[in-house]
Amino acid sequence: MKNGRQKQILVAGGAGFLGSHLCERLIEEGARVVCLDNFLTGKPENLRRLELSADFELIEHDIVEPLPAKLMKRRFDRVYNLACAASPPLYQADPEHTLMTNVLGTRHLLKLAEACGARFLLTSTSEVYGDPHAHPQVESYWGNVNCTGPRACYDEGKRAAETLCFDYDRLKKVEVRVARIFNTYGPRLSPDDGRVVSNVVSQALAGDDITVFGDGSQTRSFCYVDDQVDGLMKLMEFDGAQPGPINIGNPVERTILELVDLVLAMTGSNSEVIFQPLPVDDPKRRRPDISKAERVLGWTPQTDLEQGLRSTIAWFEAGEGLAASTRGG
Ligand code: NAD
Ligand code: UDP
Repeated sequence: MKNGRQKQILVAGGAGFLGSHLCERLIEEGARVVCLDNFLTGKPENLRRLELSADFELIEHDIVEPLPAKLMKRRFDRVYNLACAASPPLYQADPEHTLMTNVLGTRHLLKLAEACGARFLLTSTSEVYGDPHAHPQVESYWGNVNCTGPRACYDEGKRAAETLCFDYDRLKKVEVRVARIFNTYGPRLSPDDGRVVSNVVSQALAGDDITVFGDGSQTRSFCYVDDQVDGLMKLMEFDGAQPGPINIGNPVERTILELVDLVLAMTGSNSEVIFQPLPVDDPKRRRPDISKAERVLGWTPQTDLEQGLRSTIAWFEAGEGLAASTRGG
């Protein structure tokens, strides 16, 4: 609550994996939430519980297009921008739209935040570091992104979105927060999403071949969704001077083969592992340096991979949309 008044929060991309968890947490904490989404990768099932709440409202809209006039007249305290497909095959399906979502879409949302004096949070990504030469990745590292490759629509889109955000902040138009999210997983990842955790868990449960791209020695550091949402909310509510971009992720690094072995052991699956070509520009190593998040926000992830996979596997086993996340049942 702000001045005893209910906080009004806009969540663009609120029908997606992370966005739907965030909307639930915000409502649990007393806010009124408007979700803006075009259902490109988001699902109505993700909103099932939210739609029971009087504090939730859905507006279907593509943020590449100017925002509806009636929305521009509304007052928000906070604007979260999570709108963008995050899975490589999905964001590469229409690269121009992905780039425009990040650049034009972020601009439209910044203008809304400026009009009503809202604080703005951009969900940027570890992909701004590209295939990094620095390891682990610290926020001051400028990255190694191929601006002409198939991932560029996403990576460069997010980099440009960060640029816009910091320009708006420097010009005192909007107070911004930028989170660089590292691979996050959990209940509500769509089985057809194409990211590694959803692929491996759904393949293991179905007894299908497990697709490992490359030789599986590339690494990622997997953050559980509840930890991620905590980090995003702490960053949004950080009241100090502009902290710059902040990595939000779990610093425990695993190879893809280690992830596969863990999922196979936890599901008791007999699936075979098959090797397929490594996608172009696939980063070889990724691990966040989270000392800034720990120092500035007092945030550190609480859920280890085995714990997080347990609830993720349970959710996939129960069938998409039928079971609920670990938080709130
Ligand atoms: P997701 O694909 O599940 O959710 C994205 C949501 O944005 C979907 O509901 C989709 O329909 C919506 N959307 C996409 N384009 C839109 C548009 N033009 N207009 C309106 N809505 C649009 O992905 P997610 O994993 O929940 O990711 C959420 C955000 O976090 C994304 O911005 C992503 O780049 C960022 N991020 C996520 C991860 C991760 O590991 N989950 C990592 C880095 C960054
Ligand atoms: N990957 C894989 N099998 C899959 C999907 C992904 O081996 O079925 C690999 C992918 O090549 C990458 C890592 O797993 O090295 C993480 O991929 P994801 O798409 O989840 O996210 P990224 O970090 O690449 O954006």
